[in-house]
Amino acid sequence: MRKPLVAGNWKMNGTRESARTLLDGIKAGAMAVNGADLAVCVPYVFLQQVQEALDGSPIAWGGQDLSKEPKGAFTGDISAAMLLEFGCRFVIVGHSERRTLHGESDTEVAEKTAAALEAGLTPIVCVGETLEEREQDVTNDVVGRQLDAVLARVGSAGLGRCVVAYEPVWAIGTGRTATPEQAQEVHAFIRARVAAEDAEVAGALKILYGGSMKPDNAAELCAKPDIDGGLIGGASLVAEDFLAIGRAA
Ligand code: 13P
Repeated sequence: MRKPLVAGNWKMNGTRESARTLLDGIKAGAMAVNGADLAVCVPYVFLQQVQEALDGSPIAWGGQDLSKEPKGAFTGDISAAMLLEFGCRFVIVGHSERRTLHGESDTEVAEKTAAALEAGLTPIVCVGETLEEREQDVTNDVVGRQLDAVLARVGSAGLGRCVVAYEPVWAIGTGRTATPEQAQEVHAFIRARVAAEDAEVAGALKILYGGSMKPDNAAELCAKPDIDGGLIGGASLVAEDFLAIGRAA
């Protein structure tokens, strides 16, 4: 019913040359990925190259952040309209690296989600707890708070046009993955929270897992009823690994 989505988050990696090799590799294997949709979220400077490489392919693409403002004196920022101009379908919003390294608040993440939706982009809204928060047993409080901020701003109808990614901060880039049971528990919590607002939206909402998802753990994670694919960091930089996750999802 919910087709899985496997989205790569390249983060701040790559050169023109490595991007070309990676895109060629992904394109060559994409037809064999039948059970999941594929997307790559790339650094802004590669968007034109990605658009040229992937146009007409089954692979979608997007940015890793956007401004909440439509235009103006915001040095260094990129608007939703700019992303659209380069054919983006997706944009990651509220990644933990933005929240911690750039101090993005729940409110700001909600504003960015609204800006993306207004432009017709599909935001991939990231939520997740730190290790300290998990150890203090406040995972649901944190994830619930992050989700509620977005719900309050865009409503359940707006959230229904988003993808949610659960990314436990302690599992990002650490090689330490949440167990399928740990991930499923939080995914189910997210879906229930949305269902309390709108059961239909909750039932159709794609909730991705992110945090050291690799070819050897993807199938097990994606077999869980509320895990609808992945947001992939490190493994999305290797075409064969990214495709293997796509086939496993
Ligand atoms: P890793 O797959 O490298 O752990 O990164 C996950 C992530 O942050 C995706 O957005």
